[in-house]
Amino acid sequence: MNAANAADAASTTNTANGADVMVRIENVHKSFGGLPVLRGVSASCARSEVVCLIGRSGSGKSTLLRCVNHLEKPDAGRITVDGELIGYEDRGGRLVERRERDVERQRRDVGMVFQRFNLFPHLTAAENIALAPRKLRGLSRAEARELAVASLERVGLADRRDAYARHLSGGQQQRVAIARALAMEPKVLLFDEPTSALDPELVGEVLGVMRAVAEQGMTMIVVTHELHFAREVAGQVLFMEDGVIVEAGPPEDVLVRPRHERTRAFVSRTL
Ligand code: ADP
Ligand code: MG
Repeated sequence: MNAANAADAASTTNTANGADVMVRIENVHKSFGGLPVLRGVSASCARSEVVCLIGRSGSGKSTLLRCVNHLEKPDAGRITVDGELIGYEDRGGRLVERRERDVERQRRDVGMVFQRFNLFPHLTAAENIALAPRKLRGLSRAEARELAVASLERVGLADRRDAYARHLSGGQQQRVAIARALAMEPKVLLFDEPTSALDPELVGEVLGVMRAVAEQGMTMIVVTHELHFAREVAGQVLFMEDGVIVEAGPPEDVLVRPRHERTRAFVSRTL
């Protein structure tokens, strides 16, 4: 390979700044009924990196996450997860929608944890976690149970495996929801305000579990208003406003020494 070809190959491999990119978002646009919600968003998340996405309500954070998980379809732009194009196949410049089967598989690679954890209250913690692996990954009852218990161990709840979800605290339920997402062995975990629905005294245990999951090497994109968490755990913080990323960088820059007045105003109000 000559030098020009080598440079060409390097620019098309799945790397940026020497880091292995897990999620790449390029110039994504999305409108709802003529109202632009995402106006050309570009960002990337390296393998095993935690990216925290911050910004006011209505700025487009959830919509952006939902585009990565096929819950919304961008009007334009490209999103790749582990180098694979999400949602569409690019055939000679034409965007072709993926088959449902591919969408299902891609969704499995992208775990999601919501504000409302939506466990089945009448099932145990382990049963809640075992459901999807049995259905979607074809695991036997015993295999799924074993995986559920292992996942509960990762969130520090193995001793509550046989407790009914309705008997768990809100913080414990959210930890089960995180274990449920982990059990699918996703390539990346998306969190959309995972502690916003919790009583203040329960927030810490969930953030602690998220930090532990990050330390286990999980790639995570986290929408949060917990700027202390972002400062301590994130490799990168993105500040979003009116459908654009105003500022992105390491937490010490974005949260402590923001370059933009709008970031400064948001951070000083929120911290
Ligand atoms: P955030 O998560 O930052 O609060 P969202 O992505 O939820 O922001 O919403 C951004 C804007 O898009 C808001 O004005 C919201 O009302 C609008 N929006 C989000 N989803 C829809 C939808 N499915 N239909 C119409 N408008 C939507
Ligand atoms: Mg939101």
